[in-house]
Amino acid sequence: LSDRLQKTFKNITGKGKLTEKNMNDMLREVRMSLLEADVNYGVVKDFIARVKEKAMGTEVMTSLNPGQMVVKIVHDEIVDLLGTQDAPLNYKAMGLTTIMMVGLQGTGKTTASAKIANVIKKKQSRNPLLVACDVIRPAAIEQLKTLGETIGVEVFSLGVETKALETAQKAMAYAQEKGYDTVIFDTAGRLHIDEELMQELQDIKAYVHPDDILLTVDAMTGQDIVNVANSFHEQLDVTGLVLTKLDGDSRGGGILSVRAITNVPVKFVGLGEKIEDLDVFHPDRMADRILGMGDILSLVEQAQEKMDMEASAKSANRMMNGQFTLTDMLVQYEQIEKMGSLGGMMKLIPGFSQMAGQIDEDKADSKLKKSKAIILSMTPEERENPSILRASRKNRIAKGSGTSVADVNRCINEFEKMKTVMKQMSSMAKGGKMPGMGG
Ligand code: GDP
Ligand code: MG
Repeated sequence: LSDRLQKTFKNITGKGKLTEKNMNDMLREVRMSLLEADVNYGVVKDFIARVKEKAMGTEVMTSLNPGQMVVKIVHDEIVDLLGTQDAPLNYKAMGLTTIMMVGLQGTGKTTASAKIANVIKKKQSRNPLLVACDVIRPAAIEQLKTLGETIGVEVFSLGVETKALETAQKAMAYAQEKGYDTVIFDTAGRLHIDEELMQELQDIKAYVHPDDILLTVDAMTGQDIVNVANSFHEQLDVTGLVLTKLDGDSRGGGILSVRAITNVPVKFVGLGEKIEDLDVFHPDRMADRILGMGDILSLVEQAQEKMDMEASAKSANRMMNGQFTLTDMLVQYEQIEKMGSLGGMMKLIPGFSQMAGQIDEDKADSKLKKSKAIILSMTPEERENPSILRASRKNRIAKGSGTSVADVNRCINEFEKMKTVMKQMSSMAKGGKMPGMGG
C-alpha cells in the first residue's frame, strides 16, 4: 500500500461524512493502487466510475465511517469483477471430456496440464490422458513425459516429427480405444501472439471440440496481458482461466483485466512449481491482495480505535466529575454501535463471515437505535437536564423519534440507573467507598 494511499485514507477515516471531495481523494488513491498492481488502465477507469456511482448512491451507515464505506464498496466491487469461486471443469455427462491448455510460452501450460491431471485423478477419480501437442521443441515433450511419470498419468506423444494437429487426432482415437474419460492437450506457446500459432490452435480446436479451453495467465504479467487475452479469446473462445505463479510477490492485478475482457471464470490457481501447488480460486482473497487489503483493514481498525478512545476519554472525564448526562449516554450507545460495525468488517474476512451472520444483531440493534433516536430528538437543554421533561415534551420527543412515550420513559429510566452507577463509581474513584462495602 502506497504511503499516499495510507495518508489519504487516514484523512478520510477521521471525517464523519462522505463528501464528493474526500471521496475523489480516496478513489484517486485506489486508482493509483490498482495501476501499481498492474490492472489495465481502461479497466481501472471503468471500475472507479462504477464504485463512485455506487458510493454516492449509498447512504453512509452510522455504524460505518466513510473510509470503511469506501473500502467495503471497492472490495465488494473487485470481488464481483473477479467472479465466482466455484467454477468446475465442463465435464461431459457421457463420453470423452477434452481440455485444451493455451497461453503464451512460459506461462505454465505444461505444468498446469500435469497439475490438473493429477488433481482430477486423485480427487475426482477421473482417468486422464495427457497429450503433448507442443511439438516444436523436444524438451517440451520430455518435460510433459517426466511430469506424467511423477503422477502416474500416461502421456501420448508422436515426437517432434508429427504435427500438433495430427498428434491431437491420433490421441483422440487412442483415448477412445483405451477407455480414458478425460484428455488434456498441452499445446505450444510463443513469446508473442502469431498467426501460425493461432491457426494451429484453431485447427486442434475444430477437430477436438474441447469442453474447456483454459488460458494460462501468469500473475506477474503487466499491462500487455490485455492484448494477449483479447487475441486468445477472440480466436478461440476460451472457457476458463488458470492463474499461475501466484506464489510470487506480484499483486496479480492482471487477472482483473483478463476477467474484464473474457468474462470467463478462473478455474484454477497455480501456487508453485510442484505438482500439488494447485488451488481453486478465492475471489475475496485475491481482491485483498490486489488492493493491499490487509493493510487497509488494519488502518481502519487503528483509526477506529483512536476515534473511540477520544470520545470515551471525554465522556469518562465528565463521568468522573459526576456529570453524566444523556449526551454521554449517547456516546456510550454510539460506541456499542461501532462494535456492531465490527460485525460488518468481520464479514469481509474469509472464515469469519459465518460467525458474523450468527449474531442476532437486529434485536439488540433496534432497542439501541430507539434510545439513540430519542436522545437525538431532545433539545440540548433536555439532554443536560432531563428532569424538565413533562408530558408535553415527552410527547414531542416520542413523535420526533418515531417511538412512544413509554419508550421515552424507559430510556430516561435507563439513564437514571446509569447515572446512579456513575455517581457511585465517581465517588469511589475520588477515594470514597463503594456503597454497601465495609471497611
Ligand atoms: P509453458 O511454456 O506455458 O508450458 O510453461 P511451463 O509449464 O513450462 O512453466 C514455465 C516455468 O514456470 C517452469 O519453470 C515452471 O516450473 C514454472 N511454473 C509454472 N507454474 C508455476 C507456478 O504456479 N509457480 C511458480 N513459482 N512457477 C511456476
Ligand atoms: Mg509447455
